[in-house]
Amino acid sequence: MGNKKNIADKPLSRHFADNKKTSIKMSPIQKDARDRIIEKIKHKTYNLIEVNCPICNSRLKALISEKDAYGLPVHTSICKDCGFIYSNLRFSDETLKDYYVNENIILDRGVVLPEKYLFDLEIEKGKIIMEFLKNHSLLKRLENKLIVEIGCGSGGILAYFKGLGFKVLGCDIDRKPAEYGYKIGNVDIIIGTLENLKKRLRDEKMPIGLIMYEQSLEHMPYPKDEIIKVKEIMSEKTILFVGVPGFRDIDKHYDSDILQYLQPGHLLHFDLQSLSKMMSEIGLSLITGNEKIQAVFKNGEHGNSIQTHSYENNIKYLKALENNRKIRYLKRLPKMIIYLIVYNIGHIVKINLEKIGLLETDENDKIFKIINNARRFLDKIFYL
Ligand SMILES: [Zn+2]
Repeated sequence: MGNKKNIADKPLSRHFADNKKTSIKMSPIQKDARDRIIEKIKHKTYNLIEVNCPICNSRLKALISEKDAYGLPVHTSICKDCGFIYSNLRFSDETLKDYYVNENIILDRGVVLPEKYLFDLEIEKGKIIMEFLKNHSLLKRLENKLIVEIGCGSGGILAYFKGLGFKVLGCDIDRKPAEYGYKIGNVDIIIGTLENLKKRLRDEKMPIGLIMYEQSLEHMPYPKDEIIKVKEIMSEKTILFVGVPGFRDIDKHYDSDILQYLQPGHLLHFDLQSLSKMMSEIGLSLITGNEKIQAVFKNGEHGNSIQTHSYENNIKYLKALENNRKIRYLKRLPKMIIYLIVYNIGHIVKINLEKIGLLETDENDKIFKIINNARRFLDKIFYL
């Protein structure tokens, strides 16, 4: 950081400059979490480290963003060698462990007691995964087999599978949600990582039918090491489900705004091709998948024949996204102007009616709201 910047160090556009501004609406709870994290960074309780491309280990990269959705100073770059997009200035491994246990869910979801919220959300995810597997005729592979999830949170997905009659086993490094899942859903959750889960599997007689990483692989700093280890517990018939945010889905999912999709825990930004290529180099082949990303892999040949989008292609794609974001914003402008005019006229009328006694004075100071709205509106214009 602090170094003199050359042209190559500039982010994709001013939108991504480290100006501490947030790009999403945050609740007071989220703001508190963000401020706490900034303090921890300042006092070196949380440390940021510079890393190479987690896929090809290259140091050559181009900066995309100097901040994330919350305005935190994590950097996202694109590898000049393989085109992979990743968080190159990220929390250290030690910091990540603390962050996932103490801050991640509060910052991401804005809830202080997230266990029940997570569990209910995961039940819904369980239904979606089941539907996906059914639509791709993969359910037969699960009959009389064990269902495993790595990074299972409070185990709602596993609880859903358990409700359908499957035997399930999960692991998560976050103790509180894991204990909640055990209490509420009676789900067998090991507190720890894949390593801890593997120890338990030594005593397990039932073969594994399905292993899931649902929104957890993108949080792992060493994805290849993780998948090499998980492959060791996969039989010829085991299928591996991976759900990660897909960066080719940003247009639909995040209003074309790449920034909204960046957060300190999202270390890896896959598209279906880059994910399939990484898997294929480890010896897993794609059965089916989409750009959301929901993808299923099985044991296969080691290979590197999968073509991924090049650095140049991905840069082009990111620039097109950034243009889309601006266009979307401009399209909303007339609506916002009309809204502001109506809102302000309404308030002026209201205030005057109060003055002459035709309306009771409101306890809330509406003037502040008007000023804040106007300020936010102007902010947005200059922000663009
Ligand atoms: Zn690379």
